[in-house]
Amino acid sequence: SCAREQIHLIGSVQPHGFMMIAALSTGRIVQVSSGINRHWPGMRDGSALIDTPLVEWVEGIDLTGAGSLRMPLPHTYVAPLPLRLRFERTMQDSAVMPAWECQGHTHRDLLILEWFPAEGDSLGNARDTRRLFADLTQSIGHLRHAQTLNAFYDQCVRMVQKFCGFDRVMIYRFHADGSGEVVGEHTANGHEPRFHGLRFPASDIPSQARTLYLRNRLRVLADTEAQTDTLIPPTLPDGRPLDQSLCMLRGVSEVHLTYLRNMGVQATLTLSIVFNNRLWGLIACHHHQARLPPHHLCENLRQACELIAEVTNMRIDALIQMAAVRHRLERDRMLNRLRQALIFDGDIGTVLAAQMPRLLAQFGASGFGLRLGNVMYVSGSGRQIGSTREILDIVATRLDAKSSAPKVRMWDDLLAQPGRSLRCLPDVAGLLLAQRPDDETVFCYMTREEVVQQVRWAGKPQKHLAPLPDGRARLEPRRSFEEWQEEVKGKSSAWEQADVDALAMLLQALSEAHRVQINRALHEKLHWRAHHDQLTGLFNRRAMEDEVSKFLIEGHFNAALLLLDLDHFKKINDTYGHAAGDMVLQQLSMRLGGVIREFDLLARLGGDEFMLLLHVAHPDRARVLSLAERLHDAVRPPFFIEGHPVLLGVSVGIAIPPEHGRTVGELLRRADLALYHAKAQGRSRSAVFELSMESDKLDYYLLERDLAEAVARDQLSLVYQPKVDLVRGRVVGLEALVRWHHPTRGLNLPALFIPVAERSDLIVQIDRWVMRAAISAQAHWQLLGLNTLPIAINLSMADILSSNLLAFVNDLLAQFEVSADALEVEVTESCVMRDLELTQGVLMALNQRGISTTLDDFGTGFSSLSYLRQLPLQCLKIDQSFTQSMLLDANAEKLTQAILAMGTALDMRIVAEGVETAEQMQWLLHHGCHIGQGYFFSPPVPLEEVHETICGIESRLARVMP
Ligand code: C2E
Ligand code: MG
Ligand code: MG
Repeated sequence: SCAREQIHLIGSVQPHGFMMIAALSTGRIVQVSSGINRHWPGMRDGSALIDTPLVEWVEGIDLTGAGSLRMPLPHTYVAPLPLRLRFERTMQDSAVMPAWECQGHTHRDLLILEWFPAEGDSLGNARDTRRLFADLTQSIGHLRHAQTLNAFYDQCVRMVQKFCGFDRVMIYRFHADGSGEVVGEHTANGHEPRFHGLRFPASDIPSQARTLYLRNRLRVLADTEAQTDTLIPPTLPDGRPLDQSLCMLRGVSEVHLTYLRNMGVQATLTLSIVFNNRLWGLIACHHHQARLPPHHLCENLRQACELIAEVTNMRIDALIQMAAVRHRLERDRMLNRLRQALIFDGDIGTVLAAQMPRLLAQFGASGFGLRLGNVMYVSGSGRQIGSTREILDIVATRLDAKSSAPKVRMWDDLLAQPGRSLRCLPDVAGLLLAQRPDDETVFCYMTREEVVQQVRWAGKPQKHLAPLPDGRARLEPRRSFEEWQEEVKGKSSAWEQADVDALAMLLQALSEAHRVQINRALHEKLHWRAHHDQLTGLFNRRAMEDEVSKFLIEGHFNAALLLLDLDHFKKINDTYGHAAGDMVLQQLSMRLGGVIREFDLLARLGGDEFMLLLHVAHPDRARVLSLAERLHDAVRPPFFIEGHPVLLGVSVGIAIPPEHGRTVGELLRRADLALYHAKAQGRSRSAVFELSMESDKLDYYLLERDLAEAVARDQLSLVYQPKVDLVRGRVVGLEALVRWHHPTRGLNLPALFIPVAERSDLIVQIDRWVMRAAISAQAHWQLLGLNTLPIAINLSMADILSSNLLAFVNDLLAQFEVSADALEVEVTESCVMRDLELTQGVLMALNQRGISTTLDDFGTGFSSLSYLRQLPLQCLKIDQSFTQSMLLDANAEKLTQAILAMGTALDMRIVAEGVETAEQMQWLLHHGCHIGQGYFFSPPVPLEEVHETICGIESRLARVMP
């Protein structure tokens, strides 16, 4: 029950002084201590004072009973008061009045006065005071310079011992578990230091005693053998016991007295060391005889001691903070180093491995582990046992699932308690674990090994059982204070707040670096993709052109540009399939890479075409041709497809700057001509460009040759241009226009290749590809639930002439489940005029199938009204040359008006193409042309931009139209 004893209400009073307690509200005495009978000359019964006015007994006080006291008294500590006792009330006038000093404080409605006999003469007192403060000043000077805590503790105990003259002065520092360690000890002559470095168990100073030490920072126990006084009456008028928390004369618990006697101590003086409102420790002074701190110095000593405690606190605080600052600086330096390394090196694993020895030393740790999503790292202890993942999984079981703030958790006794240790990390006694609240796969930890500690105790902490006559037993305070050693196992050294902060920051730094790396990797990947051919990993066309341009712009012409084309590659695709073809291309790219030097540039332009920039000092035909021979050698050995050896050859066209050109475009075109020659001369050979190779005819052949493969090689694409209803401001249809992405020539517009295609019947292939792509786009939009508009496709004469056009269209519509009104057909005037009858039939059939027809480029041909009347057309498209000239030229304007009148007369819809300005649009609106198409609304755009473009047009027109 000792731990529950209410020692502040103890009710006993130390006998070397006495107490008077008065009520502030009445000014009357409510309690005195029984010692008053002994100490007050002539006082026979202290109880006679009860309920009499205090002022009758005490002089110098103005306690009127109105609840107030004129002199201000603090509630927190005991103040010396200039009061005198009126001994004359009980003594003869002639007798010598004894000298008593008073200390007082208030508590609620009570004024509590404590009286002590005054000692010494005033001269001697003043001398002692001077000496005390001179010494104090000097000691404080020493304290200021103490660099380590231990040196400082030593200074401190010496000084206090000197002042108070007690046999033994100790600094007692509390540990987190409540036990105390003696960190400084100094003794008077003839007494051996006994306790330095020893521990006292927590139970030696129960918690309520600690609370009192925190409130009252000076505690005097004059004589453990003296009989204590009682309070008269035992309780206050309201029946409650007196709160003696701040009383200097407060009596001592019987248990504590026994404890002190067991230790051989008869008097104590205790000063509290408090900082941040926590009881950090005590300065404990022990004496082996009864001893009051010298009365004449009492007040001064108390003040001095408080000053010492204050300075002690400050110094300890400063030293601890300095140590903390040093630690923090070291830690910040380490983290900075790490951050910098992460920025420069980038790889978390490499950086950690390099920094690990320092990192572990900083934490006093034996092991480290980290998990950042898929980055896993384990170092130090546990490294050999279990896989990284296994270790991290086991550590992860300790994560706090509920935590929402960045959290660090710690253990320092994993080996001390059964079942707490970590499998995989069998030596680990201490674990410090930091996790990110937003992601449980992000955490890191430090481990510490077991440190077997020798704890030196001041005696065995067991208490003793004393049998009582009635058969019960009494638990007695411990008797032994002889040193004994305890071995503490299974624990690591304790983690400090600084470790906790540092690990949280480390995790922060690592996870930030990880995020940056992920972004960087993603960026690099995207960048790589944009510049490389996915199949072979070589540069793509775009990157290669950039690189070669850079090279040429800098004026370097020590090079040759080679264009390579595999012979008969199409056969491989056709025979073995595309996957086999891809494998051949990969193998080929490796073979080519093997024969060039690291500063030569190699790219795959698409299909089986490769481009090579060879660096050659003083390039000439012979030298370049001999270099090209290596390429042929590399390709010559058989390729193996599904175990079959296949022989391949490569044809090479070469252009040499600056003679054959100073730009990539020029060089490429000429290398291409040379390549054509190489192929024409029987393939598997190289040719260097010559001026004689350049002729229109040849260009035309080249175009035709390439166009033939464009469809097969997936080089065509479609763009879509909106048609806009000018009255309602809405998009009413799309026109599909074909584009050709040529590996060496880049983007080709229809004006270049459609005429070529038309002359060779390739046009039918192309247009069928276009129809398929357009109808599949419609199906795609339908699937997305987008409002679909009719798509117009352009047909050439050959399409109209081809026998199975209608069957082909029907098949497509059925296959993609697209209705006929989603498709429109545009034919040019010139096309129609070639075979009027046949065209008429085909257009009719299309109409019957539900597909509407438009006459394109109207006005450029020679169609007369009579012809037009015979054709099944629903729409006329005014050629863009009219749209663009009608506002510039009065004749053109009249002509356009005439065309419009003609269309109206034939009862056809009229579309104006090539609308580029708002004025043109206004003119058309005023002259009865209600549909427009042109750059003013939008250029042709790729499939994925179509719907965004439509929205843009409609919202723009909504703003400009009335
Ligand atoms: P078109 O059918 O008369 O198509 C209109 C042409 O004018 C398109 O050129 C278009 O990009 C361009 N254009 C549109 N708005 C403007 C503008 O405001 N100002 C100017 N200056 N031009 C504009 P593109 O795509 O080069 O096509 C040219 C021609 O090639 C087409 O003339 C068409 O006759 C033909 N063509 C296009 N795609 C195909 C196709 O898939 N098959 C067939 N057989 N011919 C096609
Ligand atoms: Mg057209
Ligand atoms: Mg046109």
